Amino acid sequence: MAFSKRNKLTCVLALAVATAGCSGHWKDPSQAETDRVRCRNQMRSAAYCVIQYRADHDEQFPKSLEEAVSGEIGLEMAKSFIQCPAGGSQAKYIYVDWSRWFTNGNVPKDYPLVYESNSNKHGDGVNVVRMDLSAFWDGNARWITRFIREHPEYDLKIPVKVKGSVLEK
Ligand SMILES: [Zn+2]
Repeated sequence: MAFSKRNKLTCVLALAVATAGCSGHWKDPSQAETDRVRCRNQMRSAAYCVIQYRADHDEQFPKSLEEAVSGEIGLEMAKSFIQCPAGGSQAKYIYVDWSRWFTNGNVPKDYPLVYESNSNKHGDGVNVVRMDLSAFWDGNARWITRFIREHPEYDLKIPVKVKGSVLEK
């Protein structure tokens, strides 16, 4: 793996940087874009925790995103960190535990590691973070949907648009 061992401080720092976006000292003309970027940074930090978890656990994947993140910042904070921060949607990020298919841990670096469900409030699309921690906005979930269709053997969850879903206020 390209990622070396580290102390916990590195990950906590990454989390702090991602959270800093929440304070909103500037007024962005596009709130939607700001929310997407904030979510993407947070998701990338969560994915980074997975990478660090693996570095600490002999390249094992954590069973859940929550397990990886809570190891760094505690369970309580982790709960809000593993879901989309935009618009109070509480849409949980989808994490792929590749250990079922890659017993040697050598997952291709362009495979998705964390992505979000379409019950987010961003509009038409989802954020995606891949194994190499590259993160991007996936308009209409096109990339992730194609990946899932091209790799039916992994049985990944397609982000489905929930029309008229009732969210608790
Ligand atoms: Zn989001």
